[in-house]
Amino acid sequence: MKRLIPAFLFIFLFASQGLAQTAVRIFYQDRSEVEPLFSNPDVMVDNVKPDTVIAYVFDKGMRYLDEKGYYYETFVVPCYRGQKLSTTSLYYPEYNEIRDTLHSFAENYPDLCRLDSLGPTQEGRWMYIMRITDNPDIQEDEPEFRYSSTMHGDEPVSVPFCIEFIKMLLTGYGTDTDITEFVNEIDMWVMPLYNPDGYEHTPSWQRTLSNGIDPNRNFPVPDGTRGGDDTYTVYQETQAFMDFCDERYFVASANFHTGALVVNYLWDYTSTRAPDDELLIAMSKGYSSRNEPMWTGSFTNGITNGHDWYEVKGSLQDWVYWQRSDMDFTIELSDTKAPPVSSLDGLWDDNRDAMFYLPQWVLRGIRGIVTDSITGEPLPATVSVEGIDKDVRCDPAVGDYHRILLNGFYNLTFSCPGYRTKTIVDVYADTIEATRLDVQLVPLGTSRIHGIALLPDATEHSGIQVQATSGDFTRTDITDPDGNYELTFLIPGDYTITASKEGYGDTTVSATIGDYDDLVENFTLYQIDTVYLVNTDFEMSAVLTETSGTEWEWGIPTSGPETAHSGVNCWATNLDGNYSDGAEAMLETDEYELPANATDAKLTFWHWYEFERGDSWPSYRRYDGGNVKIQVDGGEWTVITPEGGYDGTITSSNPYIGGEEGFNGETNGNHWHTEEFDLSAYTGHTVRIRFHFGCDTGTNSSGWY
Ligand SMILES: [Zn+2]
Repeated sequence: MKRLIPAFLFIFLFASQGLAQTAVRIFYQDRSEVEPLFSNPDVMVDNVKPDTVIAYVFDKGMRYLDEKGYYYETFVVPCYRGQKLSTTSLYYPEYNEIRDTLHSFAENYPDLCRLDSLGPTQEGRWMYIMRITDNPDIQEDEPEFRYSSTMHGDEPVSVPFCIEFIKMLLTGYGTDTDITEFVNEIDMWVMPLYNPDGYEHTPSWQRTLSNGIDPNRNFPVPDGTRGGDDTYTVYQETQAFMDFCDERYFVASANFHTGALVVNYLWDYTSTRAPDDELLIAMSKGYSSRNEPMWTGSFTNGITNGHDWYEVKGSLQDWVYWQRSDMDFTIELSDTKAPPVSSLDGLWDDNRDAMFYLPQWVLRGIRGIVTDSITGEPLPATVSVEGIDKDVRCDPAVGDYHRILLNGFYNLTFSCPGYRTKTIVDVYADTIEATRLDVQLVPLGTSRIHGIALLPDATEHSGIQVQATSGDFTRTDITDPDGNYELTFLIPGDYTITASKEGYGDTTVSATIGDYDDLVENFTLYQIDTVYLVNTDFEMSAVLTETSGTEWEWGIPTSGPETAHSGVNCWATNLDGNYSDGAEAMLETDEYELPANATDAKLTFWHWYEFERGDSWPSYRRYDGGNVKIQVDGGEWTVITPEGGYDGTITSSNPYIGGEEGFNGETNGNHWHTEEFDLSAYTGHTVRIRFHFGCDTGTNSSGWY
């Protein structure tokens, strides 16, 4: 007997959902009387009129109405399904007729349409959708628009309208210029019957899905709250619709209902206006103004904001716009839920032009294709419009985007993971024909900085952090035991690159990175108890300034060493030849305060030099040369001597540094090597360093680098 228990529970739960619903007109005098009904899951409000609420009420809800003393009357929506009149052409076809008609369209117009389905319903019928466009098997650079009809099974008017609309496009193609252009330019999808189970329900039409759930209260709500069906469960038909939308890139769409005569634009769930509010209003009016009874009906200009009318949570249009940036509208085509067959021809006349007009909005605004700048492949990029917090996505199959916008100038930003974001300003959006703006995005990872960072007192160089920063953008790497580091995926920009390790002083350089640069930067880090004043190899332009003369140049050397010690640039007395006869030049640092508590202070740098020298050892005549001077606390400049001393005394014929010790010689300095100066005598003082070059007249040489 135990096996029976699950079966019993299943039946019990199924019944507890209260499948039976009663159509009710609830009368009121003040709107506050009926406000509680909008959030009552047992009362599915369908329409709010000035004195009446139309609702579908579960048994529990009927008891609630009685308990609270509401004044109401029940009614039955008459069912005209399958009924035909000899005097009119349109009627409400049965599901099987709809199916057969769609199949015959697909067979007769194979170049213009494809019949597809979102999947089966709970009772096994198909949720058909017809695609109408030129080249229906090819994904083209065309905007997609979707009509869907009758998600409420007892709101059947648009079923024959959608079929007529499909027929109009197929039969008019090639003969009617406007229709031909429409089919060529728009990827049009029409779903004549969203809820065939409700539509086929006997003895009368049923609003809900087979399981009693209102499909237009069953979508996830943007604020995460429970839908109007009081469940977080997304049922089969809703899931199929969401899956279908997720696979496609609908630009705009509308779902048809009856029970009122109005275009309802989102949001339904909140009084906050949608980011595209102005545009949604313009599109809504575009439809209603082409439907005279709607335009002149009980709603001003035939439109209403959804929430202004009455709050709905879990509606299709809210989900579609929230998740897919698809501008969806809920269009109510008739005050009478199911008007008699005799009125269908007239209603179709009221709506035909509007139905043909609304999809053409997808051809307005700004459109284009976003591709990889190197491969040309289409990208799944995101397109943002400044001031409108609603991004649209490119269809990755073609890379096309279609951003409907009202007339005006806009700033657009294109972004895609793995690519450099691009902003294009002042793009004019046209409401007659979309402005075309194709965009190429540059892949990240094409620029790199790499090199070696060393600890001169260590045999192993791992654990040095090298960080490159440009604005908010940062890349970091840690050196391996050989000191190697690599910073990849760099976006173009001006960078500060810092090598650091605990116990060592930071070393920082600046560099400008372009789109495809591959830059080498090497670092040497010194222990922090020694202060190194100018830890330079003549590579850093920023810390040195030529204060006298015109000899010093900063750039890529083609003479002398013919290459910088690190990086590509260095200082030189002449980058591409010998220094000038009789020249003097000074390269100086800014003021630098040597900390009083430094236990040691040193000046080190890499250099290379060739200076004119005459005669032979030991009585060299040192005509040209250079030396290093220091200025302490703004006082006199004095020569400082490197560890191991200078090459010798510069001859007195040199008018600038004659008689001073200096670097000199044609061969002893022409390789990159370091010098070290002890500055510990100057701790606690502010100092400047000068690289002083001087030349007598007569002969010259490569110079100082
Ligand atoms: Zn409806």
